[in-house]
Amino acid sequence: MNLNDQYAGACTSWVRYSRYEFRQFPDGVRVIPAADAVPQLYNPLETAWEMLAEAMELGRQRRQDLANIDEAVLRFAERYGLLGIAADLPSDPDFLRSREILLPENDFGFTPGTIPIGEYLNRFFPEGTLPCPEDTLGTAAGREESYNLVFSRGYGERLSWIRDYFAGLERVYSRRDSAGSSPLTRPHTLRYQVTGGVQPRLQWIFPSLESVLDLALAQSLCAEEPVLRVCKNCGKIYYNPHARSEFCSVRCRNQYNVRAWRSRQRENG
Ligand SMILES: [Zn+2]
Repeated sequence: MNLNDQYAGACTSWVRYSRYEFRQFPDGVRVIPAADAVPQLYNPLETAWEMLAEAMELGRQRRQDLANIDEAVLRFAERYGLLGIAADLPSDPDFLRSREILLPENDFGFTPGTIPIGEYLNRFFPEGTLPCPEDTLGTAAGREESYNLVFSRGYGERLSWIRDYFAGLERVYSRRDSAGSSPLTRPHTLRYQVTGGVQPRLQWIFPSLESVLDLALAQSLCAEEPVLRVCKNCGKIYYNPHARSEFCSVRCRNQYNVRAWRSRQRENG
């Protein structure tokens, strides 16, 4: 199943910077592009399965306390960018036009209800560092003006938001086979438009990287054949469309086979 074919021509373009770092602010540590980092626009639907597998594997490591994933969150951001929470939460993606923003129920600690725009932006930008009007990466990507802020170098997201979000994805995935699992609802506003011209076509608009990840998770839960794999030896979640193997690596296959052989030996001895 190829999401890029399924949503062909969708507006998904997203930004990733070549390097991210942690910066400490009074309300916590943020993940933010480094001063010398170079931005690049790309289409996250093309690598949605890899991205989902990586996010959920980090979520698994966090939930099971297997490793400190902080550095891995930076590497994830360098491959795929930040989640885009600032653009995802408001029901109107062109939120810069409003003085107040209406926030829905969310997992990021924002009180549902209206919040003044300045206060909202302060959660993503340290005070006084709103990007200058020359930052136009968002509109260059065919998106609303608010994305000029979200795609800018000054935009950061709290490390704890990202870690908890990854853990939440994996929590849902880990319960995929249980009969009592509850319906999965996500608060995104996934919009569409019909393009103009002689041959109009339907174009889906994904508001954020988070919305691409959530959609990929939803699709993976509904797929007839599992899209992602879980290593039989180490439990790692991975994506490999070509291999039939049940293991994430040769090493894991060998380890598993040695263990199986030893336990057979014990039974026979
Ligand atoms: Zn493995």
